[in-house]
Amino acid sequence: MKRSVTILGAGLSGALMAIYLARQGRHVQVLERRPDLRKVDMDAGRSINLALADRGIHALRGAGVFEDAEPLLIPMRGRTLHAPDGSLTFAPYGQRPHEVIHSVSRPGLNRVLLDHAQRHYGIEPRFLQAARTLDFERDELVMLDEVSGNPYTQPLAPLIAADGAGSIVRRAMTGQLGVRVVEDMLEHGYKELTLPAGRDGSHRIERNALHIWPRGGFMLIALPNIDGSFTVTLFLALKGGAESFAALDSRKTIDAFFARHFQDIVPLMPGLAREFLENPVGRMGTVHADAWSAGEAAVLLGDAAHAIVPFHGQGMNACFEDCLELDRLLRSAGDWKSVFDTFFQLRKPDTDAIAAMALENFLEMRDTVRDPKFMLRKELSFELERRHPDRFIPRYSMVMFHHEIPYRVAFERGRVQSEVLSRLTTTADSVVDIPTAQIDALVTELLDPLPVSPAGGH
Ligand code: FAD
Repeated sequence: MKRSVTILGAGLSGALMAIYLARQGRHVQVLERRPDLRKVDMDAGRSINLALADRGIHALRGAGVFEDAEPLLIPMRGRTLHAPDGSLTFAPYGQRPHEVIHSVSRPGLNRVLLDHAQRHYGIEPRFLQAARTLDFERDELVMLDEVSGNPYTQPLAPLIAADGAGSIVRRAMTGQLGVRVVEDMLEHGYKELTLPAGRDGSHRIERNALHIWPRGGFMLIALPNIDGSFTVTLFLALKGGAESFAALDSRKTIDAFFARHFQDIVPLMPGLAREFLENPVGRMGTVHADAWSAGEAAVLLGDAAHAIVPFHGQGMNACFEDCLELDRLLRSAGDWKSVFDTFFQLRKPDTDAIAAMALENFLEMRDTVRDPKFMLRKELSFELERRHPDRFIPRYSMVMFHHEIPYRVAFERGRVQSEVLSRLTTTADSVVDIPTAQIDALVTELLDPLPVSPAGGH
């Protein structure tokens, strides 16, 4: 197997994969269209953050880079729900001290990965190098050097395409090899805004929580940043009536919309309308591809293979899990083609499962969390986990805190568990109303023991 590999894209997937390959002693070339984010501030000072969970942490640990990332993390212990009248409810994510997720700066984490690759393995990506086309028959990658303006070609094989949701490599696979791809775009878009730090640099709302303002058809969320600010994201229909991005086109309509739906946050965001008018509306969607590779020439990795909607906070986590899995397969004997084929066969059912769960979570975050039965089911699911730790782990916990449980298992068991919770809460208003004998009988009847330690991956 050739020891030299090209990675297209120095984003989160490409940078972590470069480290994994370098650890195997392979020569890695990384090509990236954008400038070096360690030198150029590409988001005009905005601080965009993501939720990092157990799967991502496990993969960062596997590459020996977690310690570098740790100082960037802010633990979030649960969701703080903001009702329209300003009242707050806290819903913990888990019930053990380590069952938290972490807010992390996207550019900060990307920087850590790039620095680590450079410091430990001498990998210096070539920035401002854009892939233009690929020719699988001629084994050619056509690049444009955006510094000199000159095009050049290089052989493909093997190419790891970590070039994101709009992957040019995936499009070439469709055009030249007939790979079928469905890009399911949501009718909702998103806009990122800032809730600035207090004068003393402190967080102005609870720091160790993910904040949600669920409003049915739309929602606002906020994740903390290390500098005391929060990144606030509005998820809203793109068009169709007063509650859509299309309608929010002036200071007046924006101020009125926020005053009406999110009154508690308005005094904390003085630059709201200006920022709203300046910042772009992003699109979200799910990418389904029925193949991820082209013989031994190229394989898709991360969002390029399976972009998902962001409502489970798992896109990057799934990408990092890809890197771990591809590394494992490459360490075993086998040619590139068979490694790429096996990678697809193993990962596809899992990424399909998280794609479906992420879509389901959109409804839960913006709507179901407001239902009193939701809180009852949450409380009951923790009780079931306490009573039957080997059989019942809440689905959210399986996804976020148990890297040893594959996504597809979490998805399948989640369906059965949902049935258990529905049956037990049909007539009950509180957990104490439900006879323990009924709980025990139903759980043992419907759920086999899990083949994992209930203490999770920690
Ligand atoms: P990308 O981050 O898109 O990186 C691709 C790289 O390839 C880029 O650097 C790009 O410049 C480069 N590139 C593209 N085309 C070319 C080309 N032709 N030539 C050369 N280079 C090229 N995930 C989580 O786990 N938790 C979260 O909380 C979370 N929140 C999210 C919130 C939002 C609003 C969104 C949109 C996503 C969120 N995600 C989250 C998902 C996460 O952002 C993605 O899964 C992750 O960034 C994918 O990484 P990637 O490296 O595969 O792709």
